[in-house]
Amino acid sequence: MAKTVICNLCNGQMQLYSGPRFSRKLGGFLVIGGIFAIFFWIGPVLGIPLLLMGLYMMGAKRQLWVCKECNTAMERVELEPVEQPEVAQKKAE
Ligand SMILES: [Zn+2]
Repeated sequence: MAKTVICNLCNGQMQLYSGPRFSRKLGGFLVIGGIFAIFFWIGPVLGIPLLLMGLYMMGAKRQLWVCKECNTAMERVELEPVEQPEVAQKKAE
């Protein structure tokens, strides 16, 4: 992972930054709400999806390229290599 990305605006070096995608407070709140619902038998049907959603939100991360010089941020998106040529062909037609 020694790739360097150059900033479009100032030609500065961009650094890879990874941080949480969602608010941790909201994720934690959903987990607590989910556990509460399961524990008190209010409804595991409601509690389990809440718990899973909360765990996902706490675990989900995103990666950004951030410029050291001007703080411009670019989201790093993982593209599936198989899908790329198809998309390019559809745009060309
Ligand atoms: Zn820059």
